[in-house]
Amino acid sequence: MSLNLVMLGPPGAGKGTQADRLATAKGIPKISTGDMLREAVKAGTEIGQRAKAIMDRGELVNDEVIIGVVRERLAKADAQRGFILDGFPRTVAQARALDALMDGRQPLIVVDIVVPETDLVERLTSRLVCSNCGTNAEGVPRSAMATTPCVKCGGPLKQRSDDNEAVVLERLKVYRRDTQPLVDYYRSRPTFRAVNGAQAMERVFADLAEAVDSAASGGALGGVR
Ligand SMILES: [Zn+2]
Repeated sequence: MSLNLVMLGPPGAGKGTQADRLATAKGIPKISTGDMLREAVKAGTEIGQRAKAIMDRGELVNDEVIIGVVRERLAKADAQRGFILDGFPRTVAQARALDALMDGRQPLIVVDIVVPETDLVERLTSRLVCSNCGTNAEGVPRSAMATTPCVKCGGPLKQRSDDNEAVVLERLKVYRRDTQPLVDYYRSRPTFRAVNGAQAMERVFADLAEAVDSAASGGALGGVR
């Protein structure tokens, strides 16, 4: 039985980290839109060549091309036991196309990582980054900035320059505007789960794993606890 998973969650919810961890635990690939596009371009498939031509012109890749790239990626051998999609779908049109791709496969499980906006603003405005190599400093509080070196290169940490409150609020607004229709599209399904992301990372992961297992085994409709 395969595990076909879509993860939704606002910037700052820790979705990417949790998706990586779950993918490792389940032995399935985590697939992000950016990685998929790069792979398709590199492989030089027909859809990859079309994507490259669009990006070379400095334009955004449209739904049709993105969906083509997803179709190719999900047909690969390593995705037959399942996958975790991160960053796709972004629109209801993409979600409908993904449903069509799931014909004959296990139903999609959709997990929404929910974090109150005030928590997100606090997390996003206090994010630290290495001033030398740009690596994100995960879980380092601002108070420890001066005394904690970069885990990768040992360089000094600084606050991310783009993370001031106005910018963060705008990003969250854009996320809500774009993603709410997707959440509404999926919410009534028996395989939709909301996970409380306003907890310690370990607790979020435990809840996420439990939500996915219960959705996969057709358990009762879940919600934020
Ligand atoms: Zn560094």
